[in-house]
Amino acid sequence: MQNLWGENVRLRRRRKKATPSPQPYSITGGNDCEVLGHSLNMFDLSGCTTCMDCHVNIFCPRCIPIHPRDDQAVPVLCERHEERAVQHAV
Ligand SMILES: [Zn+2]
Ligand SMILES: [Zn+2]
Repeated sequence: MQNLWGENVRLRRRRKKATPSPQPYSITGGNDCEVLGHSLNMFDLSGCTTCMDCHVNIFCPRCIPIHPRDDQAVPVLCERHEERAVQHAV
């Protein structure tokens, strides 16, 4: 797939082994974020946030082209840019 800048992007680098810190509580057994999506904190003014569960850095690719501090950050559209969140009932 391609992202907004025409670069090839793999969704996420998966490392099945070597989990640094096992999640103490998880409804899916450790990969809630992969199954349910990240639990985002509030986006800050620069379009960055973090995941409450796995604490990865997240940025909105519509707000900023890349995360300013973490090139492994996960692109997730913020509330203002997430199209499918506008209307639930269709
Ligand atoms: Zn997460
Ligand atoms: Zn945005």
